[in-house]
Amino acid sequence: MLPLSDELKSKWLYGSPLPFAEAPWARGCPSPYYRDSHRRLRHAMRTWVETHLIPHVHEWEKSESLPHSLYQQAADDGLLMPMASGASIRDAWKGKYPIIGDVPADEWDGFHDLIIHDEFGRVGGIGIENGLVGGVTLAVPAIERFGTDKVKQSVVPNILSGRSRIALAITEPDAGSDVRGLQTEAKLSEDGSHFIINGQKKVLFLPNNLPVDYFLTLVREETGNFTLLVIARTEGVSTKHMAMSGSTAAGTAFVDFDDVIVPLDMVVGERGNGLKYVMSNFNHETVHRIPGIKVCKSMPRRLDKSLVYQLSQLSPQESEFLLAGTTAQLKAHAGIVLEHVVREAIQIMGGVGLTRGGRGARVERIWRDVKAITVPGGSEEILLDLAAKRALKISAEMQKIAVRGRL
Ligand SMILES: Cc1cc2nc3c(=O)[nH]c(=O)nc-3n(C[C@H](O)[C@H](O)[C@H](O)COP(=O)(O)OP(=O)(O)OC[C@H]3O[C@@H](n4cnc5c(N)ncnc54)[C@H](O)[C@@H]3O)c2cc1C
Repeated sequence: MLPLSDELKSKWLYGSPLPFAEAPWARGCPSPYYRDSHRRLRHAMRTWVETHLIPHVHEWEKSESLPHSLYQQAADDGLLMPMASGASIRDAWKGKYPIIGDVPADEWDGFHDLIIHDEFGRVGGIGIENGLVGGVTLAVPAIERFGTDKVKQSVVPNILSGRSRIALAITEPDAGSDVRGLQTEAKLSEDGSHFIINGQKKVLFLPNNLPVDYFLTLVREETGNFTLLVIARTEGVSTKHMAMSGSTAAGTAFVDFDDVIVPLDMVVGERGNGLKYVMSNFNHETVHRIPGIKVCKSMPRRLDKSLVYQLSQLSPQESEFLLAGTTAQLKAHAGIVLEHVVREAIQIMGGVGLTRGGRGARVERIWRDVKAITVPGGSEEILLDLAAKRALKISAEMQKIAVRGRL
């Protein structure tokens, strides 16, 4: 008989009894981070993923598409707004959109956010999550944080209610890690009322059948400065599907902007500061990718728990300064571990691990998706370089404080 109290059994045991299949807080080990609302959310998310996603993954990967109704369902069932929120829910959104698991908006924290992504990770691979909600997670926070009321009101409610979709359009055929090399050009019209955009982007989150209505796009002005703006799918915007080896259900495309007219009020934040705004979402984007990686269940879970706690305690500016290096290191490390674990899993399973479908399906999918998890949002070299530079910067700043403290 299990030597555990009824309280432990009822509150702290959940899910699969197999070794390492669940996090420690589901195996009878109490955690200070989780309450009833987290347990409710976990159960609601797990049911949602098992009902609406897992039975269809194979078919959607094959067709490189997601059903249109799925996105609306995600909005109606309360997934979209929380995914755009991160560690807390903005006052302006409270009461306007449903929240899965009936979590009270005031209680929402970084651990609720982590649970959503963790449960998505159970699909195995990253394509479905990327295709369905990648744009919501990566693009909406920057618009909400830096956009004018005009841009927020004309774009965000459409997305969070499931009427429209958005994608992040930064990368170009000749500018990936080197974001400063991007060439998409924004020319101011003679009367100064709008930009004329020309260039090409490589963009994820365009599954067949599930078109994107807005692109949060980084462009270069004639001054050479970078500006972030929202481009609606309008005259002059065309997309061409790209075949990918991983993350196929998410859909990836070349997006062409050919003399596209964008009113100035679609600029997000101040003109010329676009790069700063893109980087501002870095911590959340990185933490969102880690659960997908963590499905292999061998991640240093304690590290990501304390990181989520720290992110929720610090202001955005403080966490950008103090934690960007740690999140970068964690994502790079998680990717290295995932590649190793999935390789070993295939070796152990033999041919079954290379079969699309059946017992090896998840492992085979993760094998195809592993690079689509580790490359975007900062590849290994870039992240480790950033982590080292950030550690030196923090040290230099702390030395200044120490010197000042002695005076
Ligand atoms: C599945 C998927 C989804 C994506 N989604 C989006 C999206 O929605 N929106 C978007 O804008 N972009 C997206 N990207 C693009 C992604 O962010 C870029 O792939 C990434 O920035 C790397 O750029 P790159 O592919 O051009 O590779 P490169 O930048 O050419 O890098 C190639 C290799 O060189 C290494 N390298 C590059 N520079 C250095 C350096 N200075 N020092 C050491 N090594 C270096 C890199 O680590 C990498 O291993 C996506 C990519 C993938 C695969």
